[in-house]
Amino acid sequence: MSVERKPLVVGNWKMNGAFEANRTLLESLMAALAHQPLPEMGVCPPFPYLPQVGALLASSPIRWGAQTVSEHRLGAYTGQVSASMLSDLGCTYVIVGHSERRQFCGETDEQVANQTMAALDSGLVPIVCVGELAAEEVAGQTLNVIDRQLAPVLAMLAGIADEGASVVIAYEPVWAIGTGKTPTPEGVQAVHAHIRQQLQAAGLVRTRILYGGSVKAANAESLFGLPDVDGGLIGGAALDAEEFSTICTAAAVCGL
Ligand code: PEP
Repeated sequence: MSVERKPLVVGNWKMNGAFEANRTLLESLMAALAHQPLPEMGVCPPFPYLPQVGALLASSPIRWGAQTVSEHRLGAYTGQVSASMLSDLGCTYVIVGHSERRQFCGETDEQVANQTMAALDSGLVPIVCVGELAAEEVAGQTLNVIDRQLAPVLAMLAGIADEGASVVIAYEPVWAIGTGKTPTPEGVQAVHAHIRQQLQAAGLVRTRILYGGSVKAANAESLFGLPDVDGGLIGGAALDAEEFSTICTAAAVCGL
């Protein structure tokens, strides 16, 4: 992890949560993190809980964000939520292009790029997810898939290199999400180094690259200690205060 790029850990709660459970989780998390070194960190609950989570975290260093955003600014898009609405709710981050959105909602690479721009235009930090399916990994297609997913995002960012610090990329091999499997540290580093090269070629020199996919307390340090890993996007383990706080501390320690 580089000292020029502040480590970042973000919890993706997916479609989990309830008022009481959210309060318990966040209170336990804040207690577990008191007096610990902190990375930059945030949690992304489902839309309905953003006001509650924002109120609970108001005086904490933990930020919050959403799990997706509309590519449109406003108008007749029933059921969608715009970037400016998320901004009104005090969000710092928004996850875009998560593999579950690509798979279950048919989001395309171009839509993900539009969502990224919509987020930036409203002052949000987009966390752009990329990653290969199991069959693509077996076929040796990992880097091609990532290049294809990144291409429209990088094309839109070209010429606004200052945004490099605001955009975050998350490498999430789909076969590692929620499965308990992770690539080897060498495998993670190789993909991150490739993404770093692509970003640098587009003039984005300060963009952070997170790893996501079955990160837990037990493997966090070995992943976050890799030179091109700047933190993590955490699913299941973000719902457990003790696991998540240990992961956050590992990122802070690796970034010291
Ligand atoms: C995710 O959904 O972004 C994720 C990384 O999930 P998990 O940590 O549970 O694999």
